[in-house]
Amino acid sequence: MKKVFCVVLISLLAVLLMGCGKKDAGGIDYLVLVNKEHKLPENWEKEITIVKYVDSQGWDVETEEKAYEAYQKLHDALAEEDIHVDLDSAYRSVAEQERIVQDFTEKYGEDYVKQYVAVPGYSEHHTGLALDLYLNIDGQDVYENEDMVQYPEVWAKIHEKLPEYSFILRYLEGKEDVTGYSYEPWHIRYVGDPAIAKEITEKGITLEEYLES
Ligand SMILES: [Zn+2]
Repeated sequence: MKKVFCVVLISLLAVLLMGCGKKDAGGIDYLVLVNKEHKLPENWEKEITIVKYVDSQGWDVETEEKAYEAYQKLHDALAEEDIHVDLDSAYRSVAEQERIVQDFTEKYGEDYVKQYVAVPGYSEHHTGLALDLYLNIDGQDVYENEDMVQYPEVWAKIHEKLPEYSFILRYLEGKEDVTGYSYEPWHIRYVGDPAIAKEITEKGITLEEYLES
């Protein structure tokens, strides 16, 4: 009797250990923090699975696969309420950001780059989990930042729906000192769990503040 129990216990342990091993090898940390002070973890770009998508403007957009699945559900739920969004930009590689810095330095100089362009390795877009949305209002695409901010009531409805699909609004109004960014109604972040997204949203805090608490 005891021997059988031991065998069962050992098998159970083996299954548990294998399970843990698998998680370490394949899972990514959907709560990863990347900001002006926290660099993208080494190997991150090798570990994520990227899906490609062409938006209504014909732009290629790359997104981490789970974030993309969640985005599609969010998109469809919004469409049912006659709110139309599309993806402007999501994943940007570190290499691509390095090219942007080079181009902009040549065109506009170092001071401009320091103020407006993210340092390679320190943009949340490297994670594939940050998505910039744009709007379609009465059949017209609205994607310039200065035009998009003209629709606060549309953004309010979009923001309300985010937590259900594991997204948070990342750069909140009044939290510029915490995030290092001005308010961006279009920049949303996938956190991998609707319960966490709900908690962050209900508390009105940033990802930085959630991870510190
Ligand atoms: Zn963004």
